[in-house]
Amino acid sequence: MSQLPAFLTHQNGELHLEGVALSRLAREHGTPLFVYSRAAMLASLAAYQRGLAGRDHLICYAMKANSSLAILQTLVRAGCGLDIVSAGELERALAAGVQPDRIIFSGVGKTRAEMRRAIEVGIGCFNVESRAELDVLDEVARSLGRRAPVSIRVNPNVDAKTHPYISTGLKGNKFGIAHEEVIATYRHAAGCAGLQVVGIDCHIGSQITQAGPYLDAMDRVLDLVTAIEAAGVPIPHIDFGGGLGIDYNGDTPPAADDLWAQLLARLDARGFGQRRIMIEPGRSLVGNAGVCLTEVLYLKPGEQKNFLIVDAAMNDLPRPAMYQAFHRIEPVVPRSGDGMTWDVVGPVCESGDWIGRDRALNVQSGDLLAVLSAGAYCMSMASNYNTRGRAAEVLVDGDQVRLIRQRESVADQLRMEVPLA
Ligand SMILES: *Cc1c(COP(=O)(O)O)cnc(C)c1O
Repeated sequence: MSQLPAFLTHQNGELHLEGVALSRLAREHGTPLFVYSRAAMLASLAAYQRGLAGRDHLICYAMKANSSLAILQTLVRAGCGLDIVSAGELERALAAGVQPDRIIFSGVGKTRAEMRRAIEVGIGCFNVESRAELDVLDEVARSLGRRAPVSIRVNPNVDAKTHPYISTGLKGNKFGIAHEEVIATYRHAAGCAGLQVVGIDCHIGSQITQAGPYLDAMDRVLDLVTAIEAAGVPIPHIDFGGGLGIDYNGDTPPAADDLWAQLLARLDARGFGQRRIMIEPGRSLVGNAGVCLTEVLYLKPGEQKNFLIVDAAMNDLPRPAMYQAFHRIEPVVPRSGDGMTWDVVGPVCESGDWIGRDRALNVQSGDLLAVLSAGAYCMSMASNYNTRGRAAEVLVDGDQVRLIRQRESVADQLRMEVPLA
């Protein structure tokens, strides 16, 4: 049995996150409920900060992993900038109090309106993903009498060895500019009156559990930097993206500080040790800081399968349905004995609505389960499918508990709709 994530412990026969019993939180706030540990987030961030200590760097949390305001505030106050992918995320980022010049804007489909707003507030960098986007950004910036800071996302064509849906650094996907076109694109950008080249970036995928793909990508990016600068365009910063994996089910990704020790050794060896470094970690800062609490509604043993029907569903925890992802599921108050093997499923009317398959659990109706590693790409991907309100969220800090998002009501959902007369 692999270890529980940090700050999740059994005390007096029940699961606690930091100093707080999860059963108490379920009683007070209902289920499904997301619970996050402030200490766990800060410990994950500290590993990156240790790894990059003494270097000119900026850690921009990729907020699509979990964009709840209190989470953003926690990481921004601890020193993070933010990586955004939409105008909505830009407004959330500003609401969280981040300095605009510590925001970088990623994504393949930025609209003119999004570019305009981001230029007006003074973000630090646009990570541009195509020649067409570069030209539109130039035009928008000139219309505002400004120069937009840009970095070009290059596609280093390395295999991140992860799930195809979250692999982004190979030729066959929509991200970045192909290696062969990079130098010409930089030359073009350098000649645009509305653009200021400030860097280069790559992001090769997500849930990466080995250092190898990062080292390969770094080599390719450094080759490009050398060639671009030889062509007369200086590259002030290098952004290596995010993507470091977490332990969902015995996965063994390198620790962020160990990974960066290796990467910095490579940078130093190649003479780039003084260059400003940017990174965009998402999952690895928040994924294992959160759990989702759910109550067992019904036991439905069957001839072929035994189903455990719980009150959380694919609208709360979309990763299993989307990527066949694995989340550990633990009883909040374990019973003795082995129990049976269950498929843990939600109430949504889809066979894809499962949370875990073939799990040995000894539970009864009314018991609480904790779905682990639920801090990243769960709440931020939650939906209202089946007119289910999105879950509430609480943040734990030692023995303190703060409600950071109220449970969404049906009235909240109906508010935007316009019924026929
Ligand atoms: C999603 C994303 C990230 C963060 O990825 P993680 O796997 O959560 O670390 C960073 N940069 C870009 C461009 C992304 O799209």
